[in-house]
Amino acid sequence: MSANKLFVFSGASGVGKSTVLKQVMQARPELLFSVSATTRPPREGEIDGVSYYFVTKQQFEQMIDRGEFLEYNRHNDNYYGTPWPQLAEKLEKACAVLDIEPNGAFNVKAVRPDAVLIFIMPPSWQALEQRLRGRGDTSEEQIALRLTRARWEMEQRTKYDHVVVNDQVDACVNEILNIIAKYTDEE
Ligand code: 5GP
Repeated sequence: MSANKLFVFSGASGVGKSTVLKQVMQARPELLFSVSATTRPPREGEIDGVSYYFVTKQQFEQMIDRGEFLEYNRHNDNYYGTPWPQLAEKLEKACAVLDIEPNGAFNVKAVRPDAVLIFIMPPSWQALEQRLRGRGDTSEEQIALRLTRARWEMEQRTKYDHVVVNDQVDACVNEILNIIAKYTDEE
């Protein structure tokens, strides 16, 4: 088995996770991003095979039957999963970064106990609520659902190996880079 690490990130919607992860990947370009498969439709600007592998429900279920997922989960009425063959290939070369929700993260930890689980927190509950409302494209009902989900996700943080707060993006990125360095640069 390869000694390259899996860094698994979670954080509630609105916490700024994608901005932080983008900067982390820019600072450590050797890290490889695990592209998930999903049945949700692409959002504007998302590229198939880069942001996600966008597949149909039938294709996703065939992938489940063929045992192709390291983990998968249903979330917001859609399937999301980490395709293992692609990730295994990446891990042969370097450490990998996963951006998945807590249930997926715990399933990864169950089969890969050496995976490093990192949870990104908002500076405060108010800040998260403001960021979710600030997006402006979401109905009150959607906001309420996301807040309930966010509360549950934040309760899961005690099961992570590391918790970082995204108050200032640069500081948060640096903290994550220090964590990664601890696991990768020790020898
Ligand atoms: P979004 O639809 O906003 O891109 O993602 C919704 C949620 O699904 C996020 O919390 C994201 O981290 C999670 N997610 C993305 N890919 C995967 C995956 O492969 N497995 C699991 N379990 N969750 C995922």
